[in-house]
Amino acid sequence: MTIEPLFFKPVFKERIWGGTALADFGYTIPSQRTGECWAFAAHQNGQSVVQNGMYKGLTLSELWEHHRHLFGQLEGDRFPLLTKILDADQDLSVQVHPNDEFAKIHENGELGKTECWYIIDCEKDAEIIYGHNAKTKEELIAMIKRGKWEELLRRVKVKPGDFFYVPSGTVHAIGKGILALETQQNSDTTYRLYDYDRKDEEGKLRELHLEKSIEVIEVPSIPERQTVHHEQIEDLLTTTLIECAYFSVGKWKLSGSASLMQQKPFLLISVIEGEGHMISGEYVYPFIKGDHMLLPHGFGEFKLEGYAECIVSHL
Ligand code: ZN
Repeated sequence: MTIEPLFFKPVFKERIWGGTALADFGYTIPSQRTGECWAFAAHQNGQSVVQNGMYKGLTLSELWEHHRHLFGQLEGDRFPLLTKILDADQDLSVQVHPNDEFAKIHENGELGKTECWYIIDCEKDAEIIYGHNAKTKEELIAMIKRGKWEELLRRVKVKPGDFFYVPSGTVHAIGKGILALETQQNSDTTYRLYDYDRKDEEGKLRELHLEKSIEVIEVPSIPERQTVHHEQIEDLLTTTLIECAYFSVGKWKLSGSASLMQQKPFLLISVIEGEGHMISGEYVYPFIKGDHMLLPHGFGEFKLEGYAECIVSHL
């Protein structure tokens, strides 16, 4: 029996900081404040759905639950990854995520969250918050209590093509004017540390979680430098961006054709630029910017043709 690539229909989330850039991916967005495209999502707050083939109409959670062979019989009570594209028209609040151990105890058995960002596009001089400047926990607490945010938070300028690994315990925020693809553990456990004292339409501040944030923030904060690895496979340049305990993420730049093998339990491919097609056996599957494909376990040999850029991930 032929194993097909599964194309997923994303779920969109309106956010106060969202914009309209996701429309450039060919998506019909719900409003002018669309912040998140959940591309591969098997979460209670959002489920992406298969658009083609024999599993058409099933959610990623249903596939994981009832068709585990598609994932090489991996173990676990939920699909492990969540892939989003974020459009930040405004600064996002400054956050930190717990690790698995802390979340298990303090958040009802939830998972922690390690994530990473690939900057697809951004305005000139766009910035992220990435880490902090406190040298000890005492200094961290003192700076937070006195509201010395400008001194505490480490700002980093970004440009398209940059990549950032954000392990649990890292203070972080995406700044305005940034379009990023985020790969993360499938969890929503977030502690908000600072929200720039912004008020909503009703004049209210959003809730902060200072105590839990302070507990989980790593001190000192040393954002890790990633060494990337390149490999040229025919007309495909592959770049490994991160390999950690939770996921591996890479970039594919296709300019012609390349023959590949899918030997992982599953492979997620998000097309962020260009178009082309995938040839598997006698079948041809066209793809275009904005498509998200899952290649199941046992997919085997396939060929890519076209001009495209993709972010790929697997365990
Ligand atoms: Zn985060």
